[in-house]
Amino acid sequence: MSAPVVAVVGRPNVGKSTLLNRIVGRREAIVEERSGVTRDRKAVDAEWRGRPFIVMDTGGFIATEEGLDAEVSRQSVRAIEDADAVVMVVDVTVGVTNEDEAVASLLRGRDIPVFVVANKVDDTNRENDAWAFLSLGLGDPHPISALHGRRTGDFLDVLVDALPPEGEDADGDEGEVREEILAVAIVGRPNVGKSTLFNTLDRAERSVVHDLAGTTRDTIDTVIETESGPVRILDTAGMRRRGKIDVSTEYYSVVRALRAIDTADVVLLVIDALIGVTHQDQRLAERASISGSPVVVLLNKWEMADADQRELVSEQVDDRLKFLPNAKVLKISALTGKGTHKIIDALLDTADTYHRRIPTAKVNEVLRQAQAHQPAPGGTRVLYATQGATDPPTFTLFANRRLPPTYLRYLERKLREAFAMGDTPLKLRVRARRD
Ligand code: GDP
Ligand code: GDP
Repeated sequence: MSAPVVAVVGRPNVGKSTLLNRIVGRREAIVEERSGVTRDRKAVDAEWRGRPFIVMDTGGFIATEEGLDAEVSRQSVRAIEDADAVVMVVDVTVGVTNEDEAVASLLRGRDIPVFVVANKVDDTNRENDAWAFLSLGLGDPHPISALHGRRTGDFLDVLVDALPPEGEDADGDEGEVREEILAVAIVGRPNVGKSTLFNTLDRAERSVVHDLAGTTRDTIDTVIETESGPVRILDTAGMRRRGKIDVSTEYYSVVRALRAIDTADVVLLVIDALIGVTHQDQRLAERASISGSPVVVLLNKWEMADADQRELVSEQVDDRLKFLPNAKVLKISALTGKGTHKIIDALLDTADTYHRRIPTAKVNEVLRQAQAHQPAPGGTRVLYATQGATDPPTFTLFANRRLPPTYLRYLERKLREAFAMGDTPLKLRVRARRD
């Protein structure tokens, strides 16, 4: 289930970035490296009291003589439109400005929770100044100091309480029948060939543009009927046939991509073979690996790559996508269709292992043999193990003591080999009798 999105808005210098850092505890770069029009957009993962959410830094609103800078504002508006909640940051040391009022006017009357955070309330003396922002018409201001962490926890309590319950979209509808159909996210940097691939798959198979309500409110997923059953292609911005959308949606597609990765049963990571594996490709792969979604890597534009490029990109896959050690890698040309017929099988195979459940007796047999072959140091032993969950396969190992990480990796490798788990991420949990 995808995490709710919180957009942070406000004019420059009120402390949006400071608040963002306070919320996530550290600065975390995102998958999309392209700069926005005036500054980088950031989408970061956050968690408060066990509730995960995505914080979207919108780049703010910039005032001009005519009001707000149109381009920047448009981007902020888009972010607001896809958010499940909005945090508008204001500065108590300055008071209500025209820009604040312009921002507030964009937020009033929306059907999502909107919070005014009165920042830079560094001490109690400042607290009364916060009430001036009642005039924005967005409810009681929450006085905080992002810099010092003053009352930020109180505010986050209120914020997460207002987020849609887990497993529901903001509209309150359940995740519908989505689970029944294999959900696939096609992700990759701009221009790697995602739309081309989408169209090729779409043409080759019987595509029913079911126009299922997508994973986010204004997205539309496509269902492709294959010989092996329906496959749902999640809508990530800029991929559907309606063609390219303007630049302002580019940064915005980050949130889409992140959500799609979290929702997908399998991720298709498209890489431009002519360019090679970039830092950004690594980030996407890493993200998929963290979210537990198995990945199929597609080296696209293969027909155009010369021998050197082919060798280089193959090396890069081994080297730079280390955290996807067993991922299937296909060489394709989305443009000519060469190699693309293998994609659906690769997807289904990959998804199958993801849903596999292995009998306890077999798990224990493999671990017994692995330990006999190479015992853990210091008499540490796994006594019993069971697969507690699928999607991804999760094993609980009961041990007499805590297992060294290297040994755990060894056991993971053995399990993976024994059950031909391919690229599926495995989770191993260890219950130690005593630490
Ligand atoms: P942004 O442009 O809205 O992202 O604002 P920044 O986070 O960059 O903050 C602008 C300035 O306000 C920086 O100098 C911050 O150190 C300062 N600032 C942010 N939060 C606080 C706060 O709670 N108290 C005080 N006194 N200064 C703050
Ligand atoms: P997206 O931004 O990832 O959706 O990329 P597009 O599908 O729009 O493709 C970007 C450009 O790469 C277009 O000019 C495509 O025609 C081209 N392209 C896509 N796939 C291939 C391929 O397999 N081979 C070659 N030579 N060009 C491709």
